[in-house]
Amino acid sequence: MLDKIISEDVDSIVVRIGKIGEVLETCKILVTGGAGFLGSYVCDVLNRLGASVVCVDDLSSGKLDNIDHLLENEKFVFIRADVSNFESDEKFNYVLHMASPAVPEEYKSRPVDTMKANSVGTLNMLEIARKSDAKILFTSTSEVYGDAKILPTPETYWGNVNPIGLRSCYDEGKRFSEALIMAYIRQYGLDARIVRIFNSFGPRMRADGVYGRVVSRFIDQALSGRPITVYGTGRQTRSFCYVSDTITGIMLTLLSDRAKGEVINIGNPRETTILQLAKLVKRMTNSNSKIVFKKLPQDDPRRRVPNIRKARRLLGWRPLIKLEDGLKRTIEWFKLRKGVSTR
Ligand code: UDP
Repeated sequence: MLDKIISEDVDSIVVRIGKIGEVLETCKILVTGGAGFLGSYVCDVLNRLGASVVCVDDLSSGKLDNIDHLLENEKFVFIRADVSNFESDEKFNYVLHMASPAVPEEYKSRPVDTMKANSVGTLNMLEIARKSDAKILFTSTSEVYGDAKILPTPETYWGNVNPIGLRSCYDEGKRFSEALIMAYIRQYGLDARIVRIFNSFGPRMRADGVYGRVVSRFIDQALSGRPITVYGTGRQTRSFCYVSDTITGIMLTLLSDRAKGEVINIGNPRETTILQLAKLVKRMTNSNSKIVFKKLPQDDPRRRVPNIRKARRLLGWRPLIKLEDGLKRTIEWFKLRKGVSTR
């Protein structure tokens, strides 16, 4: 069964998608990375809308736990496979290519896998879309902007990326994917859409050791009384978008005619320092954890804030959930899951 908190999120997303979601009832949709944090939310929403879903995931960072409630469903098929080896002659109406490691620690431990998912993997998905005459959506990232010099960052900014740094496997992989998608649009007239996702958080985020992103790590540390590890001075910023807002943005990009061929930032423009986040999580969990400072990782962007004017204009989308409200839901979910901790 779907958790109550996630079920409420899915309901709110379906309401916000509105009537344009009805088209999916008769559609067959390929979702790569469908067992991951964002991918599994997408699978839940598609399932709620009555779509037939084929979910491909190699479970290297996604978890079967995230989709096990869907496995018995006759309109849901799970295939355990790596996107860089996955080909198919099946016909789909939509392809969502979301598979990729997405945690800075993984860029260090699995840089080749990260690049393959975002190069050969993207090529494979584009070919499936082309043969099917399907629409394809690619989940890119704010990382294509690197350590951005223009803030809030609009889609027109070209980026400030270290091509050989520790994060380059991810940044440059995503940039290559975007370029490849544009090539398919220009050469084959493919209907493709790219979302650049800024830091998202919510239930189902990984919290396993170093493989968690900052929000889930801080919550996990705070709930278990371990030190909350702030990297550097904690003055670097991120802008955190609650998962239901992010998924609504992804779905509207997939479904809206105005998003065809477009690249769209999806994120929350409210900027927060990492130290503020640590204090907020500590307070909201009533935790006795100490806040400790650790070395800042290489090439850690100093500030990250999206300009979301384009999403507002084309999709009528903007985030609705405040950081504190999203954190409350996420903390609640992690508390309920404590008995089955992933660590
Ligand atoms: N961070 C931190 N402590 C942690 C994990 C991350 O201070 O235990 C910082 C990290 O250095 C970065 C920010 O939090 O500045 C966001 O990190 P995350 O791993 O979520 O991903 P990023 O936004 O860097 O891709």
